[in-house]
Amino acid sequence: MHSPFRHAGSIFRKGRPIHLTFFVTRKCNLTCPFCFYLRSKEEEARGASEELSLDEIRRVSASLGRMLWIAFSGGEPFLRDDLAEIGRVFYEQNKPAVMLFPTNGSLPELIEEKTERILRECPNSVVVVKLSLDGIGEAHDALRLGRDSFSKTMETCSRLGRLIARYPNFDLGINTVFSAANEDRMDEIIEFARGLEHVKTHTISMVRGDLADESFLRADVRKYERAASRLAENMRQGRSPHYRFRGGRLKAAQDILQRRLIHRTAVEKRRVVPCWAGRLNVVLSETGEVFPCEILTESLGNVRDNGYDVRRVLRSEMAGNAVRAIREGRCHCTHECNFIMNILFNARLYPALFGEYLRLGGGERPALRP
Ligand code: SF4
Repeated sequence: MHSPFRHAGSIFRKGRPIHLTFFVTRKCNLTCPFCFYLRSKEEEARGASEELSLDEIRRVSASLGRMLWIAFSGGEPFLRDDLAEIGRVFYEQNKPAVMLFPTNGSLPELIEEKTERILRECPNSVVVVKLSLDGIGEAHDALRLGRDSFSKTMETCSRLGRLIARYPNFDLGINTVFSAANEDRMDEIIEFARGLEHVKTHTISMVRGDLADESFLRADVRKYERAASRLAENMRQGRSPHYRFRGGRLKAAQDILQRRLIHRTAVEKRRVVPCWAGRLNVVLSETGEVFPCEILTESLGNVRDNGYDVRRVLRSEMAGNAVRAIREGRCHCTHECNFIMNILFNARLYPALFGEYLRLGGGERPALRP
């Protein structure tokens, strides 16, 4: 397996990105009103025509070096016809320990077929598929504005569940966007997800971004804390399975600590830990724009204007200024992807992290084959 420990040096030196979020497409078959990546149909059509081609992506990937993890996001990433080929390019050139594919889950056959191909062709990376689930039954359909969205997601879950036994590098999870629209139903959602066969993890993401309907953003942070505590207790009591991969218990501990820190950030409305965006994390849009994170929307440059070299973009004066502002703590957010890195690569948080690790007790799943 591609070991995450190859990146231990980044605890001391934040010299290059080891986490990439790549928005492979902005196309989506749903129009969830709380999606921060929602765009008008005209922009969507324009964006599709400007999407980076596989050859361009190969050049971008070659500029990055070895990566710890890569998230292939969207839009709906599985709508991109060449998603499996894109995954393979990054697998071969960047040897990521983890490849994450979040999906709305509403295209069962397509998702199963592409996931199986990715699993087969990327055996040395942990491949995680996260299905979105924001309510049960009609409550989910109403939030996702998609008829039968819930039943399709459940079908996808059961199709992907069949791959678990065949591919030891596969981890199947559920993610719920926590918003004002479902904050009162979190107990029900958590218990439902816990009962799903083959699902290894359930995470929640605090709603974020510049939304057309701001009512979703008025989520109650006390209810977030309550949901986070319930998830943590389920894990500590062994009522929820941990991630399957080697080090899964440590990842589970990081999830618990992360939700505590996100709650603190939301309550105090300020940055509570340093952020390595633009140094350890980098974001690439489907049209080649480079950003330090998903929240700051000013592009640092486009790879098409920089020889498809992400590191060259990150060496620009603009990127230097952006990273300086981030270091000075001029922004704050609750974005989970950045918190993962901000915890795992901050030695000052290790006492708290290992405290959570010890409280988890047993329950780690068997390690993957070496
Ligand atoms: S704190 Fe949030 S908004 Fe600021 S750089 Fe980090 S991820 Fe981006």
